[in-house]
Amino acid sequence: MTEDCLFCRIVAGSVPARVAHETDTVLAFHDINPQAPTHVLVIPKAHHRAVGDLDPVTAGAVLQAAHHVAKAEGLADDGYRLVFNTGRDGGQTVFHVHCHVLGGRSMTWPPG
Ligand code: IMP
Repeated sequence: MTEDCLFCRIVAGSVPARVAHETDTVLAFHDINPQAPTHVLVIPKAHHRAVGDLDPVTAGAVLQAAHHVAKAEGLADDGYRLVFNTGRDGGQTVFHVHCHVLGGRSMTWPPG
């Protein structure tokens, strides 16, 4: 838990979130500013800054939870996109690693 981290506060329950899925080690909740009909963030409960800081077990748990959310949200047949914005050029704004699960519309490429 890092006091000044928004997503740590969501894990602690002091900032409300619409939870989509939870395990012992990860939490998934709906993005406050959705960029697609379904936009869920999957985070490790423990504070890690970016994807490169994750150990393989935690990284696997995040990916497994992301696919679980995609299936639960009905995205598995038509597809979905997973995104880890990383660092300044990657567009990361919250420095508690998170996987965006986006779906419910056709995605374009390249991303902006
Ligand atoms: P990033 O730009 O990849 O770091 O993504 C951060 C995401 O967190 C953005 O999509 C924001 O809309 C989302 N976000 C910021 N604050 C909250 C919140 O309090 N609840 C849920 N999502 C949030």
